[in-house]
Amino acid sequence: MRVELLCTGDELVTGLTPDTNSPYLEARLFELGIKVTRVVLVGDVREDITRALREAASRSDVVIVSGGLGPTADDFTAECAAVAAGVPLVEDPGTLRFLRERAEKRGRELTPNVARMALVPEGSEVVPNPVGSAPLFIVRVGGSRLFFLPGVPREYRALVDGAVLPRVREELEKRPERTYRAFRLLRTVGIPESVLDTRVAPLAAAHPRVVFGFRTHAPENQLKLMAEAPSQAEAEAALAAAETAARRELGLAVYGSDGDSYPIVLAKLLTEARATLALAESCTGGLIAAQLTGVPGASSFLLGGAVVYTEKMKTAWAGVPAELLARHGAVSSPVAIAMAEGIRAACETTYGLSVTGFAGPTGGTAEDPVGTVYCALAAEGAPTRCERFSISGDRDLVRLFAASYALELLRE
Ligand code: ATP
Ligand code: MG
Repeated sequence: MRVELLCTGDELVTGLTPDTNSPYLEARLFELGIKVTRVVLVGDVREDITRALREAASRSDVVIVSGGLGPTADDFTAECAAVAAGVPLVEDPGTLRFLRERAEKRGRELTPNVARMALVPEGSEVVPNPVGSAPLFIVRVGGSRLFFLPGVPREYRALVDGAVLPRVREELEKRPERTYRAFRLLRTVGIPESVLDTRVAPLAAAHPRVVFGFRTHAPENQLKLMAEAPSQAEAEAALAAAETAARRELGLAVYGSDGDSYPIVLAKLLTEARATLALAESCTGGLIAAQLTGVPGASSFLLGGAVVYTEKMKTAWAGVPAELLARHGAVSSPVAIAMAEGIRAACETTYGLSVTGFAGPTGGTAEDPVGTVYCALAAEGAPTRCERFSISGDRDLVRLFAASYALELLRE
């Protein structure tokens, strides 16, 4: 099945708004076994949109169009659709009623420009918009089926999921030559991409139905598994076998899969263990706290912490003896250990986690250059662990990896 996407809007061709609608739909379609054949972006010019619609219709079985269905003067995609289909625009009574009720609910009159959203090409199938005003309409142009969706990403996605994909799926069921796919994203930390590749590449031969792909998304390296087979069950079985093999090979480096995030996984671990945590952050400046508090329910394990950026505050808030700072410097193992122990004592938690390092671009010493980070974990009834890391990259990257390495101490 040939599927083409067409997005309209001046903002898409003038560098104002990147097209995020297409990638969303491309991924959903790919899961169904469809690789989109072409994506076209067109500015707000009537003739250009009409021509693009005709061309796309002549090349494809399905065209999915976004944008220009709203009430403003630059919204005229429905007009272009009618011209391309060679039919007049007609008022859809259901949509008009819906728009009137929606306006009344907000204590407003139905203005003529809003009422314009009820105009669709004659013969269209109309699907109400569950999260906005302009409906989806589906119209035939030659042998092709054209879907028109509002451009607002939230509305676009809702209509893609609720109306477009079910119809595409139905269409697919009628075709015998279909490919089924299953996906898994394995998320790893603390293992370079080259090592990931070396360990995983030998698995490919034993799993011919699975494509192994890699992606770096700092501080993670991700392994993407995609299985293809003539049935969904076979695709899923092939995927499961490859995933088991990859996890066996990578061990603890795999911290989660698909929609997991490092903070979410750690939050789960800490919550399940009924453990509590306090943070003393220097070079990460609260990054770890921000990541953990991004997880709903973080207060069940994260009791508090401090950004102790200067020596004075390391002493005042994390109880690091001034004499220790003078002797070893703020970026050192003894200070990281004292920070972790000090914050744990102050907050009375199961764990105290600390980070201190040189984020750059200036600073550092001969033994501990920019990128050197010490992380320590103090735990109830156990000796405090401290690790030194050498991170390369700019300031942002050093801070990002420092946060992730510190959290890794908790997972071990
Ligand atoms: P509205 O009722 O809001 O006018 P519409 O169907 O007319 O809906 P547009 O006016 O084209 O849609 O776009 C509405 C909003 O959605 C704009 O902020 C626009 O930047 C954004 N948008 C449109 N198309 C895309 C796209 N392909 N990717 C991301 N954002 C988009
Ligand atoms: Mg608009």
